[in-house]
Amino acid sequence: MTIKPLIILPDPILRQTSKPVETVDERVKRLADDMLDTMYDAPGIGLAAIQVGEPLRLLVIDVSKEEDDKAPQVFLNPEILAESDDRNVYEEGCLSIPDYYAEVERSAEVTVRYLGLDGKMHEETADGILATCLLHEIDHLNGVLFIDHISKLKRDMVVKKFTKAARKAIA
Ligand code: ZN
Repeated sequence: MTIKPLIILPDPILRQTSKPVETVDERVKRLADDMLDTMYDAPGIGLAAIQVGEPLRLLVIDVSKEEDDKAPQVFLNPEILAESDDRNVYEEGCLSIPDYYAEVERSAEVTVRYLGLDGKMHEETADGILATCLLHEIDHLNGVLFIDHISKLKRDMVVKKFTKAARKAIA
């Protein structure tokens, strides 16, 4: 069990575009395991590899509510095939932007194709919190953060706050 340090706003690493996973090897499996440990420890319901400093298109999600009934899911190279016109609003947070929450509107339903740890391609249609979580995490693979979906005024405020905090930490 390895808990990895999280990359925090405004670290420019978070703005990188992640590269596809080429092969499902031991390194990728170990990274997915470590990411799940890191996510559960935080705790959070989703984590993209770039948030632990690995620019790979790999994300882990568990939206199950029960502590003793874990349902981890690992998505490699997820691709959005379809998004509904119906929208949902959830209050989102992000392990890279601790203790900040804001309402974000996204498609209510999404269909993704992805490579599983079994080395096979899968398709899944998600709604509810899983759809929002998938869209939030897939954004990370493209260097996009949930604060990019809120007003510029609010975003500037949160970036300023985290930039100040980071400067203090270095000083
Ligand atoms: Zn996030």
